[in-house]
Amino acid sequence: MVTKNYEPFLLTPGPLTTSLTTKQAMLRDWGSRDAAFIQINREVRDRLVALAGGGEAFTCVPVQGSGTFAVEAMVATFLPRDGKLLILINGAYGHRIAKICDYLDRDYVTYETAENTPPDPAEVDAILDGDAAISHVAIIHCETTSGILNPVAEVAAVVAKRNRRLLVDSMSAFGALEIDVAALPCDALAASSNKCIEGAPGMGFVICRTETLAAAKGNAHSLSLDLQDQWSAMEKNAQWRFTPPTHVVAAFHQALAEHADEGGVAGRGGRYRRNCEILISGMKALGFEPLLPAALQAPIIVTFHMPVDPSFDFQVFYDRLAEQGYVIYPGKLTVADSFRIGCIGRIDETVIQGALSAMEKTLEDMGVRQRGPAAA
Ligand SMILES: *Cc1c(COP(=O)(O)O)cnc(C)c1O
Repeated sequence: MVTKNYEPFLLTPGPLTTSLTTKQAMLRDWGSRDAAFIQINREVRDRLVALAGGGEAFTCVPVQGSGTFAVEAMVATFLPRDGKLLILINGAYGHRIAKICDYLDRDYVTYETAENTPPDPAEVDAILDGDAAISHVAIIHCETTSGILNPVAEVAAVVAKRNRRLLVDSMSAFGALEIDVAALPCDALAASSNKCIEGAPGMGFVICRTETLAAAKGNAHSLSLDLQDQWSAMEKNAQWRFTPPTHVVAAFHQALAEHADEGGVAGRGGRYRRNCEILISGMKALGFEPLLPAALQAPIIVTFHMPVDPSFDFQVFYDRLAEQGYVIYPGKLTVADSFRIGCIGRIDETVIQGALSAMEKTLEDMGVRQRGPAAA
């Protein structure tokens, strides 16, 4: 299924390696009012709602831009101007939502845990009990900073019990990890085209409760990020309000068909899980130590401690791996010096094995012997 690439494999959290057929879907110019494009756009939206378990009560609003545009649009549209957001933070993407609130001038509080520690639902419950002004809670599904899986379902249950509304950033998990927006429940979930669905970068989307979206008129501070306006215009004439990323939508349509062919969320998640297991066991065999225990590790991206060996230089390691066709990712942690390797994109265990062999050879060439975080 994964063919030898003439480009390096991107072992990164996105943009990532896509299939040849997904890339080929972009070799055509579409008019934004073209009936065939409108049909593709409709199918993309419907498939995404179905993937999220949305059913009749939910809709999907696409938005131009990277994933952050979708998260910002979600916060701007669903958090009323007089609302207050509790943000659960254990990495950069949680911090980014706080920064979005600063820009939007919306009231918020944070509950921050260490990058290797998930939020405690009981603590969320206590915070909501103690602050009646909090109207919404935001959680990151898989915090890509470390690769940690956050307890979305448990937090959702607490939020629902306390009669507050939940917003989920499922950017790096959606399409690979089961999530059911109706069952959680949540008001809105944001993700993008170039993570686990394996499309090209350039659009985000928010899957949300239609009734709540309809009632969100006037909340947004920004015309281009107003999802209520984007949705009501699209419902009227099936078109995007402003120039759609036509090639990206066409590629995403193809990527969604390939996602279904692979067996949907179970099939895609299964491949990533195998990638992740082979990666972690192979890296341990090379002497590296992952940051997270298995129970907290999402099969999306893995953080490894930087080796202590003085002959290890990350930039050299990175460059030599890239020359051999494998692009890895620097770390973003504050708790430890680290680097990351992604398990997502159109890669399989053969690619992971190839990356492990390239790492082994490179470490030998570099003379790196102490590959764990602490000197033995
Ligand atoms: C990738 C990602 C985003 C969005 O990042 P962009 O660079 O704007 O696409 C947001 N949240 C999480 C958890 C992510 O992994």
